[in-house]
Amino acid sequence: MTRIAVLGAGISGLSTAYALEKLAEQENLEIEVVVLERLDRTGGKVMSVKAEGFLCEWGPNGFLDNKPMTLDLCRALGVDANLLRSNDNARKRFIYAGGTLHRLPETAGAFFKSKLISWPGKMRLGCEMLITPNRGNDDETLADFARRRLGGEALERLIGPMVSGIFAGDPETMSLRSCFPRIYQLEQEYGGLIKAMVKLGRKKRAERKAGQQVASAAGPGGILTSFSGGIQDLTDSLVEKLKAEVRVGSGVERLEPKQDGFLLHLEDATTVEAELVVSAVPAHALTAMLQQADAQAATLLAQIPYAPMNIVCFGYEREKIARDLAGFGYLIAKGEKRHTLGTLWDSSIFPNRAPRGQVLLRSMLGGATNPQAIELTEEEVKKRTMADLKQIMGIDAEPDFVKIFRHRRAIPQYIPGHGSRLAELDERLGQIPGLFLTGNAFFGVGINDCVNASNRIAQKMIDFVAKKQ
Ligand SMILES: Cc1cc2nc3c(=O)[nH]c(=O)nc-3n(C[C@H](O)[C@H](O)[C@H](O)COP(=O)(O)OP(=O)(O)OC[C@H]3O[C@@H](n4cnc5c(N)ncnc54)[C@H](O)[C@@H]3O)c2cc1C
Repeated sequence: MTRIAVLGAGISGLSTAYALEKLAEQENLEIEVVVLERLDRTGGKVMSVKAEGFLCEWGPNGFLDNKPMTLDLCRALGVDANLLRSNDNARKRFIYAGGTLHRLPETAGAFFKSKLISWPGKMRLGCEMLITPNRGNDDETLADFARRRLGGEALERLIGPMVSGIFAGDPETMSLRSCFPRIYQLEQEYGGLIKAMVKLGRKKRAERKAGQQVASAAGPGGILTSFSGGIQDLTDSLVEKLKAEVRVGSGVERLEPKQDGFLLHLEDATTVEAELVVSAVPAHALTAMLQQADAQAATLLAQIPYAPMNIVCFGYEREKIARDLAGFGYLIAKGEKRHTLGTLWDSSIFPNRAPRGQVLLRSMLGGATNPQAIELTEEEVKKRTMADLKQIMGIDAEPDFVKIFRHRRAIPQYIPGHGSRLAELDERLGQIPGLFLTGNAFFGVGINDCVNASNRIAQKMIDFVAKKQ
């Protein structure tokens, strides 16, 4: 029997524990898993808060169905029948730029008609196919990449909002290669994004003609998917299906490598022994745990910054809002000088997020471009969010329902040097056999990325166990 400790009960830790149990069963290996979580609840960034008939997501409000990982997990858990796809409204996404909301164009025709990007900006975008690819080894920022290939306007009005929507990040300080590895690859493989689109489009058509199955037609972004009880249904089902003991209120303070395994020192002064340990805690939490075992690895982990964020949920009686709310919501272009990063129209995306006759809007305030916002009082957060909603959506009324969530360290930022830092970390931790890493600090922040990384690490651990047993 091999005893394995999983540190952290967010989606990464829970899905790792689940994959470990499934793989061990398939390979006839005997393992015993314990999940240690510092908080008195499971889910980590995943938490669906129900109050006064509203369902407010504390962190993520779903996952995208254009990648298979989380869907496969839901199938394995037997909860796929309960999945809730965002309705057609969610296709309509908006960008606030130049003092107005523009619908984000979905087709080439809509793009030409759209006023989101000016004609000179569109022409500059079209020149992308003439730009020589950067085959250098430098870890380019997203902003440099966007300026070089797509032009300044596309950076302001397309890339900037996308980066704040996914990472609450600043494109000037984020690594293209680590944040969007696929985009980096497309430039390397095809010489540019337009060339890649044309060639991949041709390939898809040929595959369709040959009768082969072609990846989901959901479009590049996929469809936002959750559950009627909120995204927490996913982590709750994981906890329910795990054989592992899930110990909440069990923060790990220090990790001590031993002859054949580890001694984990907990915050409550007790210890837990395990032969294998997988960390699924945020990088800063692991920094503290590793300080004595490997100070250099701890320093590398401390170099992964996190962006803070306030999530502001406002509920209104529908009739108090004059504008049409059919849509996903909007993100704000760089340089608009607003307080918020954007607002999602949560009750338009999923049907049961607000009581009948009311609506739920969820705004984001802070991020890497405005980190000071985490220090604001609740009253000030509310005031600034209301000011933006008035300016952008014409909402004059006081919200009838308010809930504010604070994330002092919301989302890890993959800054230039992230990839080489991970390689160095891998080398250092290779010296501590039996210790594995997963979690959103390394290979992607989306729920799909977390589940994917967890599946990969669980397989590696099972291979390690197989060699031992
Ligand atoms: C506001 C917000 C909105 C988001 N929206 C989306 C979205 O719509 N779609 C999407 O796909 N992704 C979204 N994300 C990203 C996604 O939610 C996260 O990347 C993902 O949930 C992180 O999961 P994790 O398990 O890696 O980390 P976490 O959820 O942070 O879990 C880590 C766990 O480790 C625990 N821990 C910390 N220290 C210790 C310790 N010393 N000992 C034991 N346990 C410890 C923590 O308490 C926590 O439970 C969003 C994130 C945020 C913050």
